[in-house]
Amino acid sequence: MNRHRILSEQTPATVNLDGAVARRGLMLVLSSPSGAGKTTLSRRLLSEFSDLTMSISVTTRPKRPGEKEGVDYFFVDKIEFDLMRNKRQLLEHAKVFDHYYGTPAGPVEEALTAGRDILFDIDWQGAQQLKQEKRDDLASIFILPPSTKELEQRLRSRAQDSDKVVAQRMSKAVDEISHWPEYDYVVVNHEIEEALAQVRAILIAERLKRTRQTYLVNFVKRLQDGQ
Ligand code: 5GP
Repeated sequence: MNRHRILSEQTPATVNLDGAVARRGLMLVLSSPSGAGKTTLSRRLLSEFSDLTMSISVTTRPKRPGEKEGVDYFFVDKIEFDLMRNKRQLLEHAKVFDHYYGTPAGPVEEALTAGRDILFDIDWQGAQQLKQEKRDDLASIFILPPSTKELEQRLRSRAQDSDKVVAQRMSKAVDEISHWPEYDYVVVNHEIEEALAQVRAILIAERLKRTRQTYLVNFVKRLQDGQ
């Protein structure tokens, strides 16, 4: 067991010893321009925090090599996407780079009431919509790259995207970055371990927010009763 695991287990457990849900889950939103390290940060957080799950979005974007249905995304066509949207099954949705993306609503409320946290890798449009819908449950982090040069290098080294796509993503990055003031926290990813430590600290602090620790009312009552 590593030091970080021990640290993360010091935050309130999802369930009390008597089986009651100890706290309300939270929605942790990570946004950044592509290539700023958001995917790596998400993966590391998910492997470290057992009661953190990823929100799997639906998208009309074609599957990239190595991506798995139901793991990276639920890949749908535009008709299916519109159907979900019309039935209000999406908590938020947006068009990003010519494709549509959305967050299925069902799993989110289920996780929150069960005291599990959910991680969202969504763009600024989605973060804005979630803020309107779920302000009290939300903590949002914007990840910035250390420089434009570094961002371009990271996009190129992925080798998954063509020159045209890289150029398109670079121009989109400028637009995306302009939304940084809309977030609760901002982390500059100079170095992945350092950025991870900062995101970890945010998650731990957000879990400790008084309003999220729903078990405290009874806990303090027992303390006051001398138990
Ligand atoms: P990619 O196609 O590279 O997986 O994602 C492109 C962009 O779409 C990323 O910035 C990602 O955060 C965003 N994105 C992925 N899923 C969703 C979603 O459900 N809603 C919104 N608003 N953006 C999303």
